[in-house]
Amino acid sequence: MSARKGANIVKIDLGGKVVLVTGASRGIGRAIAAAMIDSGASVAVHFNRNKQSAEDIAAGGGDRARVFQADLSDPVQGGKLLGDVVDEFGRLDVLVNNAGVAVSSPLEEPLETCARTWHQILSVNLVAAGILSREAIRHFQTIGGGRIVFVASRAAFRGDTPEHMAYAASKGGMVALSRSIARGFGKDGVKSFVVAPGFTRTEMAEDFIEEYGEELAMKDIALDRMTEPGDIAPMVVFLASGLADHATGATIDINAGSYVR
Ligand code: NAP
Repeated sequence: MSARKGANIVKIDLGGKVVLVTGASRGIGRAIAAAMIDSGASVAVHFNRNKQSAEDIAAGGGDRARVFQADLSDPVQGGKLLGDVVDEFGRLDVLVNNAGVAVSSPLEEPLETCARTWHQILSVNLVAAGILSREAIRHFQTIGGGRIVFVASRAAFRGDTPEHMAYAASKGGMVALSRSIARGFGKDGVKSFVVAPGFTRTEMAEDFIEEYGEELAMKDIALDRMTEPGDIAPMVVFLASGLADHATGATIDINAGSYVR
């Protein structure tokens, strides 16, 4: 009886809030955008190449959702994206920095290719998230505050495979960025959080499964099924809601017990 009562205490209604989810056309971002829509938010569904898929997600939100295109390997497009969203919806309350790439870069790769890969990964995963956050903070300062959620990775803490060093470094950078925002702009009403997923079943994870097999990923985790995008999204909605504001600066691990720290 008391457990039922407890379960009813947390009701998340994001009605009236405007949320931008980057990389919302697929995978984890798609699940986050859908969960935000379900919670009543108005949602800016960002995509780069997969317009149709972004439009499908936005369709679920009716008048409350719109799609926005930007290639975040160009940080200026990232900055403009935020302005476009504010122009369209009139404000922004929550930024979810989710878009990301995980390009493999083996040690044997030629120097020029390796340098290009590092640049691509850092640009999308870290620089664009930094520029978007900067623009969001400047906007939040004009409306009394807002929230940023970074989708980083277990790799920020545990490290990654040798061919994914750049990816791990980009995610470590995200964590430092979020902590700086939380500490630097809290008095302006800005809160910042990190969600750090472990291996999650999306297209990004397919390369790993192809190379190493699903069994290896399963061996790594403590639970009996691999994490799905829908296992990440509710935590992001919770952090966006304001119910966890005093956890600003924190990282929430969602890795099925594969890296408990
Ligand atoms: P995913 O299925 O590969 O989807 C990636 C998303 O990022 C897509 O919506 C894609 O947009 C967007 N994107 C990629 N390059 C972009 C660019 N240059 N400009 C703008 N958008 C771009 O990946 P996911 O697995 O859902 O990953 C989402 C986030 O979770 C990433 O930050 C990832 O690092 C993190 N993460 C994933 C895992 C995992 O195991 N899957 C684990 C830990 C952390 P388009 O499709 O429209 O091009």
